[in-house]
Amino acid sequence: MRAIQKQGLGRAVLVDLSDPVAGPGEVLVRARYAGLCASDLHKLYRSSGEKDDANGKLVMGHECSGVIEALGAGVERYPFTDRPIRVGDRVAVDPLIPCLSCESCARGQYMICPKLSHLGLWRDGCFADKFTAPATRLYPLPDEVGDLEGAMAEPLACALNFVDKAALKCGDTVTIIGGGAIGQFVALTLLHASPAAEIIVSEPVPAKREKLRAMGIRHTVSPIERSVGDYVRELTEGRGSDVVIECVGTAGAIQDALSATRSQGRCVLGGLPEGKLPLDLHHLVFGELEVRGVLATDWHFSRAIRLIASGRLPVSRLVDRIISLEEVPEAMRQAHEGKDIGKVAIRIDDSGR
Ligand SMILES: [Zn+2]
Ligand SMILES: [Zn+2]
Repeated sequence: MRAIQKQGLGRAVLVDLSDPVAGPGEVLVRARYAGLCASDLHKLYRSSGEKDDANGKLVMGHECSGVIEALGAGVERYPFTDRPIRVGDRVAVDPLIPCLSCESCARGQYMICPKLSHLGLWRDGCFADKFTAPATRLYPLPDEVGDLEGAMAEPLACALNFVDKAALKCGDTVTIIGGGAIGQFVALTLLHASPAAEIIVSEPVPAKREKLRAMGIRHTVSPIERSVGDYVRELTEGRGSDVVIECVGTAGAIQDALSATRSQGRCVLGGLPEGKLPLDLHHLVFGELEVRGVLATDWHFSRAIRLIASGRLPVSRLVDRIISLEEVPEAMRQAHEGKDIGKVAIRIDDSGR
Protein backbone atom coordinates (compact mmCIF):
# COMPACT_ATOMS: atom_id res chain seq x y z
CA MET A 1 0.00 0.00 0.00
CA ARG A 2 0.99 3.66 -0.43
CA ALA A 3 1.90 5.63 2.68
CA ILE A 4 3.50 8.98 3.60
CA GLN A 5 6.26 8.12 6.02
CA LYS A 6 8.32 10.44 8.18
CA GLN A 7 11.94 9.34 7.89
CA GLY A 8 13.70 11.57 10.39
CA LEU A 9 13.32 15.30 10.95
CA GLY A 10 11.98 17.20 7.92
CA ARG A 11 11.81 14.21 5.57
CA ALA A 12 8.40 12.92 4.42
CA VAL A 13 8.46 10.28 1.69
CA LEU A 14 5.86 8.38 -0.33
CA VAL A 15 6.67 4.70 0.31
CA ASP A 16 5.24 1.30 -0.53
CA LEU A 17 4.53 -0.73 2.60
CA SER A 18 2.84 -4.04 3.25
CA ASP A 19 -0.71 -3.72 4.62
CA PRO A 20 -0.85 -3.38 8.41
CA VAL A 21 -2.68 -6.08 10.37
CA ALA A 22 -5.34 -5.32 12.98
CA GLY A 23 -4.18 -6.57 16.38
CA PRO A 24 -6.52 -7.63 19.20
CA GLY A 25 -9.10 -4.91 19.84
CA GLU A 26 -8.17 -3.08 16.64
CA VAL A 27 -9.68 -2.68 13.19
CA LEU A 28 -8.10 -2.25 9.78
CA VAL A 29 -9.46 0.83 8.00
CA ARG A 30 -9.27 1.58 4.28
CA ALA A 31 -8.75 5.36 4.24
CA ARG A 32 -11.06 7.59 2.17
CA TYR A 33 -10.14 11.19 3.13
CA ALA A 34 -7.56 12.72 5.45
CA GLY A 35 -6.82 16.26 6.56
CA LEU A 36 -3.43 17.96 6.74
CA CYS A 37 -2.96 19.83 10.01
CA ALA A 38 -0.44 22.19 11.61
CA SER A 39 0.41 19.48 14.12
CA ASP A 40 1.52 17.21 11.23
CA LEU A 41 3.98 19.95 10.25
CA HIS A 42 5.07 20.29 13.86
CA LYS A 43 5.66 16.53 14.00
CA LEU A 44 7.64 16.48 10.75
CA TYR A 45 9.80 19.54 11.17
CA ARG A 46 10.15 20.19 14.89
CA SER A 47 9.61 17.11 16.98
CA SER A 48 12.61 14.82 17.02
CA GLY A 49 10.17 13.07 19.29
CA GLU A 50 11.19 10.85 22.17
CA LYS A 51 8.08 8.84 21.31
CA ASP A 52 9.13 8.21 17.68
CA ASP A 53 9.80 4.57 17.03
CA ALA A 54 13.35 3.23 17.21
CA ASN A 55 14.21 3.68 13.53
CA GLY A 56 12.62 7.16 13.39
CA LYS A 57 10.08 6.09 10.77
CA LEU A 58 6.41 6.83 11.18
CA VAL A 59 3.38 6.91 8.89
CA MET A 60 1.97 10.42 9.28
CA GLY A 61 -1.60 11.74 9.49
CA HIS A 62 -4.32 11.87 12.13
CA GLU A 63 -7.47 13.44 10.63
CA CYS A 64 -9.26 10.69 8.75
CA SER A 65 -12.33 8.88 7.54
CA GLY A 66 -12.54 5.48 5.94
CA VAL A 67 -14.22 2.12 5.66
CA ILE A 68 -13.65 -0.82 7.98
CA GLU A 69 -11.92 -3.60 6.10
CA ALA A 70 -11.09 -6.17 8.80
CA LEU A 71 -11.71 -6.73 12.51
CA GLY A 72 -9.03 -7.87 14.96
CA ALA A 73 -9.72 -10.40 17.71
CA GLY A 74 -12.32 -9.36 20.27
CA VAL A 75 -13.74 -6.40 18.31
CA GLU A 76 -17.50 -6.24 18.79
CA ARG A 77 -19.19 -2.90 19.40
CA TYR A 78 -18.69 0.82 18.93
CA PRO A 79 -17.63 2.47 22.21
CA PHE A 80 -20.46 3.03 24.70
CA THR A 81 -23.14 1.70 22.34
CA ASP A 82 -24.80 -1.61 21.51
CA ARG A 83 -24.09 -1.09 17.85
CA PRO A 84 -21.99 -3.89 16.34
CA ILE A 85 -18.89 -2.96 14.33
CA ARG A 86 -19.12 -4.45 10.84
CA VAL A 87 -16.78 -4.73 7.88
CA GLY A 88 -17.89 -2.10 5.34
CA ASP A 89 -18.98 0.50 7.92
CA ARG A 90 -17.98 4.09 7.16
CA VAL A 91 -16.19 5.62 10.14
CA ALA A 92 -14.26 8.59 11.46
CA VAL A 93 -11.39 7.73 13.79
CA ASP A 94 -10.49 9.75 16.87
CA PRO A 95 -6.68 9.78 16.65
CA LEU A 96 -6.22 10.37 20.38
CA ILE A 97 -5.59 6.99 21.98
CA PRO A 98 -5.81 7.07 25.80
CA CYS A 99 -5.25 3.94 27.89
CA LEU A 100 -8.84 4.01 29.25
CA SER A 101 -7.70 2.45 32.51
CA CYS A 102 -5.83 5.15 34.47
CA GLU A 103 -7.27 7.72 36.85
CA SER A 104 -7.24 10.56 34.25
CA CYS A 105 -9.12 8.34 31.80
CA ALA A 106 -11.63 7.36 34.50
CA ARG A 107 -12.33 11.09 34.89
CA GLY A 108 -12.72 11.53 31.12
CA GLN A 109 -9.54 13.64 30.98
CA TYR A 110 -8.08 11.68 28.07
CA MET A 111 -5.75 14.45 26.94
CA ILE A 112 -3.68 14.14 30.11
CA CYS A 113 -3.57 10.30 30.19
CA PRO A 114 0.07 9.47 31.06
CA LYS A 115 0.00 6.54 28.59
CA LEU A 116 -1.54 8.58 25.77
CA SER A 117 -0.78 7.56 22.20
CA HIS A 118 -1.86 9.33 19.01
CA LEU A 119 -2.26 8.28 15.39
CA GLY A 120 0.34 9.93 13.18
CA LEU A 121 2.29 11.34 16.11
CA TRP A 122 3.34 8.35 18.21
CA ARG A 123 1.98 5.43 16.17
CA ASP A 124 1.41 4.94 12.45
CA GLY A 125 -1.29 7.24 11.13
CA CYS A 126 -3.70 7.60 8.25
CA PHE A 127 -1.76 9.14 5.34
CA ALA A 128 -1.88 5.66 3.79
CA ASP A 129 -4.25 3.43 1.85
CA LYS A 130 -4.85 1.46 5.05
CA PHE A 131 -4.22 1.93 8.76
CA THR A 132 -5.13 0.29 12.04
CA ALA A 133 -6.84 1.89 15.04
CA PRO A 134 -8.31 0.69 18.34
CA ALA A 135 -12.03 -0.12 18.02
CA THR A 136 -12.59 2.13 21.06
CA ARG A 137 -11.77 5.16 18.90
CA LEU A 138 -14.20 4.53 16.04
CA TYR A 139 -17.28 6.60 15.27
CA PRO A 140 -19.73 5.35 12.64
CA LEU A 141 -20.61 8.08 10.13
CA PRO A 142 -24.32 8.74 9.63
CA ASP A 143 -25.56 8.93 6.03
CA GLU A 144 -25.74 12.73 6.28
CA VAL A 145 -21.97 12.95 6.81
CA GLY A 146 -19.81 12.47 3.72
CA ASP A 147 -16.30 10.99 3.76
CA LEU A 148 -14.63 14.40 3.40
CA GLU A 149 -16.72 15.81 6.25
CA GLY A 150 -15.89 12.71 8.31
CA ALA A 151 -12.20 13.57 8.00
CA MET A 152 -13.00 17.08 9.27
CA ALA A 153 -14.54 15.71 12.49
CA GLU A 154 -11.14 15.85 14.21
CA PRO A 155 -10.36 19.56 13.68
CA LEU A 156 -13.99 20.35 14.53
CA ALA A 157 -13.70 18.29 17.74
CA CYS A 158 -10.60 20.35 18.64
CA ALA A 159 -12.56 23.56 17.97
CA LEU A 160 -15.39 22.33 20.22
CA ASN A 161 -12.85 21.72 22.98
CA PHE A 162 -11.45 25.24 22.55
CA VAL A 163 -14.96 26.72 22.72
CA ASP A 164 -15.92 24.53 25.72
CA LYS A 165 -12.84 25.62 27.64
CA ALA A 166 -13.63 29.26 26.82
CA ALA A 167 -16.91 28.77 28.76
CA LEU A 168 -18.85 31.53 26.99
CA LYS A 169 -21.93 33.16 28.39
CA CYS A 170 -24.88 34.31 26.28
CA GLY A 171 -24.08 37.67 24.74
CA ASP A 172 -20.30 37.48 25.18
CA THR A 173 -17.96 39.12 22.71
CA VAL A 174 -15.37 36.59 21.56
CA THR A 175 -12.11 37.36 19.77
CA ILE A 176 -10.19 34.71 17.86
CA ILE A 177 -6.48 35.36 17.36
CA GLY A 178 -5.43 33.62 14.12
CA GLY A 179 -7.79 32.86 11.23
CA GLY A 180 -5.95 29.78 9.92
CA ALA A 181 -7.54 26.34 9.80
CA ILE A 182 -8.19 25.87 13.51
CA GLY A 183 -9.25 29.50 13.92
CA GLN A 184 -11.74 28.98 11.08
CA PHE A 185 -13.18 25.84 12.71
CA VAL A 186 -13.51 27.80 15.96
CA ALA A 187 -15.17 30.68 14.06
CA LEU A 188 -17.66 28.32 12.38
CA THR A 189 -18.51 26.77 15.77
CA LEU A 190 -18.96 30.18 17.41
CA LEU A 191 -21.14 31.38 14.54
CA HIS A 192 -23.54 28.46 14.42
CA ALA A 193 -23.35 26.61 17.73
CA SER A 194 -22.57 29.09 20.52
CA PRO A 195 -24.16 31.97 22.45
CA ALA A 196 -21.55 34.53 21.32
CA ALA A 197 -23.12 37.88 20.48
CA GLU A 198 -20.16 39.31 18.58
CA ILE A 199 -17.16 37.58 17.01
CA ILE A 200 -13.91 39.32 16.05
CA VAL A 201 -11.02 37.63 14.24
CA SER A 202 -7.43 38.86 14.01
CA GLU A 203 -5.65 37.45 10.96
CA PRO A 204 -2.79 38.94 8.89
CA VAL A 205 -3.54 37.21 5.54
CA PRO A 206 -6.11 39.21 3.48
CA ALA A 207 -7.52 36.11 1.69
CA LYS A 208 -8.26 34.46 5.04
CA ARG A 209 -9.97 37.59 6.35
CA GLU A 210 -12.03 37.60 3.15
CA LYS A 211 -12.99 33.93 3.68
CA LEU A 212 -13.96 34.64 7.31
CA ARG A 213 -16.16 37.56 6.26
CA ALA A 214 -17.82 35.32 3.64
CA MET A 215 -18.51 32.81 6.45
CA GLY A 216 -20.36 35.54 8.34
CA ILE A 217 -17.71 37.07 10.63
CA ARG A 218 -18.45 40.80 10.68
CA HIS A 219 -15.30 42.08 12.35
CA THR A 220 -11.85 41.14 11.07
CA VAL A 221 -8.59 42.95 11.71
CA SER A 222 -5.03 42.64 10.46
CA PRO A 223 -2.60 42.53 13.41
CA ILE A 224 0.05 43.94 11.08
CA GLU A 225 -1.97 47.02 10.18
CA ARG A 226 -3.17 47.93 13.66
CA SER A 227 -3.18 47.10 17.35
CA VAL A 228 -5.63 44.24 17.94
CA GLY A 229 -6.21 45.38 21.54
CA ASP A 230 -7.14 48.90 20.36
CA TYR A 231 -9.42 47.53 17.62
CA VAL A 232 -11.25 45.24 20.06
CA ARG A 233 -11.65 48.00 22.67
CA GLU A 234 -13.03 50.33 19.99
CA LEU A 235 -15.74 47.75 19.21
CA THR A 236 -16.56 47.13 22.88
CA GLU A 237 -16.83 50.64 24.28
CA GLY A 238 -13.39 50.37 25.79
CA ARG A 239 -13.96 47.13 27.73
CA GLY A 240 -12.14 44.51 25.68
CA SER A 241 -13.31 41.05 24.67
CA ASP A 242 -15.09 38.90 27.29
CA VAL A 243 -13.34 35.85 25.90
CA VAL A 244 -10.31 35.46 23.64
CA ILE A 245 -9.31 32.22 21.90
CA GLU A 246 -5.70 32.23 20.71
CA CYS A 247 -4.88 29.79 17.86
CA VAL A 248 -1.32 30.70 16.76
CA GLY A 249 1.24 30.21 19.53
CA THR A 250 3.71 33.01 18.70
CA ALA A 251 4.66 35.68 21.25
CA GLY A 252 2.96 38.36 19.14
CA ALA A 253 -0.30 36.41 18.92
CA ILE A 254 -0.34 35.62 22.65
CA GLN A 255 0.42 39.26 23.46
CA ASP A 256 -2.48 40.34 21.21
CA ALA A 257 -4.72 37.79 22.94
CA LEU A 258 -3.86 39.11 26.41
CA SER A 259 -4.26 42.74 25.40
CA ALA A 260 -7.66 42.10 23.73
CA THR A 261 -9.08 40.37 26.83
CA ARG A 262 -11.18 42.57 29.13
CA SER A 263 -10.26 42.84 32.81
CA GLN A 264 -11.35 39.65 34.57
CA GLY A 265 -12.07 38.15 31.14
CA ARG A 266 -10.97 34.71 29.97
CA CYS A 267 -8.09 34.04 27.58
CA VAL A 268 -7.70 30.53 26.15
CA LEU A 269 -4.34 29.66 24.62
CA GLY A 270 -4.56 26.92 21.98
CA GLY A 271 -1.65 27.66 19.61
CA LEU A 272 1.43 25.44 20.02
CA PRO A 273 4.08 27.72 21.58
CA GLU A 274 7.64 27.43 20.38
CA GLY A 275 10.33 27.80 23.01
CA LYS A 276 10.37 30.50 25.68
CA LEU A 277 8.28 33.55 24.81
CA PRO A 278 8.98 37.15 25.91
CA LEU A 279 5.62 38.49 27.12
CA ASP A 280 4.40 41.60 28.92
CA LEU A 281 2.12 40.27 31.67
CA HIS A 282 1.14 43.64 33.16
CA HIS A 283 -2.50 43.47 31.98
CA LEU A 284 -2.76 39.78 32.93
CA VAL A 285 -2.00 40.62 36.58
CA PHE A 286 -3.47 44.10 36.91
CA GLY A 287 -6.56 43.13 34.88
CA GLU A 288 -6.95 39.82 36.76
CA LEU A 289 -7.21 37.82 33.55
CA GLU A 290 -8.11 34.17 33.67
CA VAL A 291 -5.72 32.35 31.31
CA ARG A 292 -5.82 28.68 30.45
CA GLY A 293 -4.21 26.35 27.95
CA VAL A 294 -6.15 23.97 25.73
CA LEU A 295 -4.98 21.10 23.54
CA ALA A 296 -6.72 18.73 21.12
CA THR A 297 -9.87 17.05 22.47
CA ASP A 298 -11.26 15.22 25.45
CA TRP A 299 -14.60 13.73 24.52
CA HIS A 300 -15.78 15.86 21.63
CA PHE A 301 -15.88 13.50 18.64
CA SER A 302 -19.44 12.28 18.87
CA ARG A 303 -20.68 15.84 19.33
CA ALA A 304 -18.61 17.00 16.34
CA ILE A 305 -20.16 14.31 14.14
CA ARG A 306 -23.67 15.11 15.37
CA LEU A 307 -23.14 18.80 14.59
CA ILE A 308 -21.92 18.00 11.08
CA ALA A 309 -24.88 15.64 10.56
CA SER A 310 -27.26 18.40 11.69
CA GLY A 311 -26.15 20.49 8.71
CA ARG A 312 -25.44 23.49 10.94
CA LEU A 313 -21.67 23.40 10.51
CA PRO A 314 -20.69 23.18 6.82
CA VAL A 315 -17.13 22.00 7.59
CA SER A 316 -16.30 20.90 4.04
CA ARG A 317 -16.56 24.57 2.95
CA LEU A 318 -13.50 25.28 5.08
CA VAL A 319 -11.39 23.00 2.85
CA ASP A 320 -9.38 25.17 0.45
CA ARG A 321 -7.67 22.44 -1.56
CA ILE A 322 -8.00 18.69 -2.16
CA ILE A 323 -4.80 16.87 -3.13
CA SER A 324 -3.68 13.29 -3.75
CA LEU A 325 -1.56 11.21 -1.38
CA GLU A 326 1.40 11.65 -3.77
CA GLU A 327 1.19 15.44 -3.36
CA VAL A 328 1.45 15.40 0.45
CA PRO A 329 5.27 15.76 0.84
CA GLU A 330 5.31 18.80 -1.47
CA ALA A 331 2.28 20.36 0.26
CA MET A 332 3.98 19.93 3.65
CA ARG A 333 7.18 21.46 2.32
CA GLN A 334 5.33 24.48 0.94
CA ALA A 335 3.42 24.99 4.18
CA HIS A 336 6.65 24.70 6.17
CA GLU A 337 8.32 27.30 3.96
CA GLY A 338 5.57 29.73 4.85
CA LYS A 339 3.51 29.45 1.67
CA ASP A 340 -0.10 29.74 2.70
CA ILE A 341 -1.80 26.60 1.38
CA GLY A 342 -5.00 26.90 3.47
CA LYS A 343 -6.84 23.87 4.83
CA VAL A 344 -5.79 20.87 2.75
CA ALA A 345 -7.70 17.60 2.48
CA ILE A 346 -6.23 14.46 0.95
CA ARG A 347 -8.40 12.26 -1.24
CA ILE A 348 -7.01 8.77 -0.67
CA ASP A 349 -9.87 6.74 -2.14
CA ASP A 350 -12.80 8.50 -3.77
CA SER A 351 -14.98 5.46 -4.38
CA GLY A 352 -17.18 6.54 -1.46
CA ARG A 353 -19.58 9.40 -0.92
ZN1 LIG B 1 -5.37 17.96 13.52
ZN1 LIG C 1 -5.23 6.70 30.67
